[in-house]
Amino acid sequence: MATTPADNGHTSSADLGPATALTCRECGHSRELGPYYACEQCFGPLEISYDFGGVTRESIEAGPRNIWRYRGLLPVPSNVAETPNTEPGLTRLVRADQLAESLGLQRLWVKDDSGNPTHSFKDRVVAVALAAARELGFKVLACPSTGNLANAVAAAAARAGIRSAVFVPSDLEAQKIITTAVYGGLFVTVDGNYDDVNRLASEIAGEEEDWAFVNVNVRPYYAEGSKTLGYEIAEQLGWRLPDQIVIPVASGSQLTKIDKAFQELIKLGLVEDRPYRVFGAQAAGCDPVAAAFKAGHDVVRPVKPSTIAKSLAIGNPADGPYVLDVVRRTGGAVEDVTDEQVVEGIRLLAATEGIFGETAGGVTVATLRKLVETGALDPSAETVIINSGDGLKTLDAISSQVAPSANIPPSLDAFRAAGLA
Ligand SMILES: *Cc1c(COP(=O)(O)O)cnc(C)c1O
Ligand SMILES: [Zn+2]
Repeated sequence: MATTPADNGHTSSADLGPATALTCRECGHSRELGPYYACEQCFGPLEISYDFGGVTRESIEAGPRNIWRYRGLLPVPSNVAETPNTEPGLTRLVRADQLAESLGLQRLWVKDDSGNPTHSFKDRVVAVALAAARELGFKVLACPSTGNLANAVAAAAARAGIRSAVFVPSDLEAQKIITTAVYGGLFVTVDGNYDDVNRLASEIAGEEEDWAFVNVNVRPYYAEGSKTLGYEIAEQLGWRLPDQIVIPVASGSQLTKIDKAFQELIKLGLVEDRPYRVFGAQAAGCDPVAAAFKAGHDVVRPVKPSTIAKSLAIGNPADGPYVLDVVRRTGGAVEDVTDEQVVEGIRLLAATEGIFGETAGGVTVATLRKLVETGALDPSAETVIINSGDGLKTLDAISSQVAPSANIPPSLDAFRAAGLA
């Protein structure tokens, strides 16, 4: 039980499991748990601190077959699994021998997060944000989104029986518009890019005190949901860490939290402490973190996004500097690939492994290829890549590139004549 002071009518006593405090990533100043996201001293981003106790491999393995098996490592109430939620997680880790062979790698795995309830990794972060937000007394689940987050928020709120309010750039993929609107809830398209929508959301969050913008005012809780990707990869590999991992970067939250998960597992003695390298993947049309990495900078200069990888099109990434920290600390790199290479990446993953990833998956596969070619990544070391979303949500990216082999009348003669066998 963590105790929080009454704040703006929010609950005064919240059960947030093993979470103990909110600590500033910049200056280290700590404060009590609550609906806070910026440091009182320096405005730096707040991150959850914990006191873990009694989490073992066995206790995790005995848990539900979704992210709540890791609830002892997350800022959520202990009974979280019993409240209606979308139950994301425990997506498959696929051994990808054919993709490995085509890229000259020896041992490769794809963590296929398109298998989540709304077909992207965002169901993880939203489930954790929703659980914490309810505990903190928020009434509405909201977000600015590049698409997948809108899907996940609208669905999770519907399942939980609460209101949702989502805001997206109006040029979003048609599939993501439909797969958000279908859940009902308030759904606003905004004439602007994601960074404009994000700024608007911050302004609304300042006025609507009951609204939990999952990636704005409850971001410290939201971000922790990405740790479950790291926990699952380690558990699915038989409680060990891979040598190398390639992760798509939008805000950079997913990458930094997978690293945090690996560090926690090491500290808890749940996996062996051995070195691993973390690589980031971006599209060339929105590559602020890759550009900073290559230039040797610590700060990330915002860009105006222009890429088919819209789920990664965040020009001013909140966690960009922390991505640079993780990648440099572990001996990884951040690379970027052209839209043409993204499409090739989507097709290569589909043709070699039968996995249809969205544009973010194409970015990751194409980046993997480039990292092998430049020698940044060791082809003989065990590697995991993340496919973070489903190709059915970004059909426009490849609709002009793929087609049936032939169209024939329904006769064997016609089939033979076409020379198709
Ligand atoms: C949001 C998103 C990401 C990256 O998320 P960040 O944590 O913001 O870096 C990656 N892939 C897909 C499909 C996404 O929707
Ligand atoms: Zn601070």
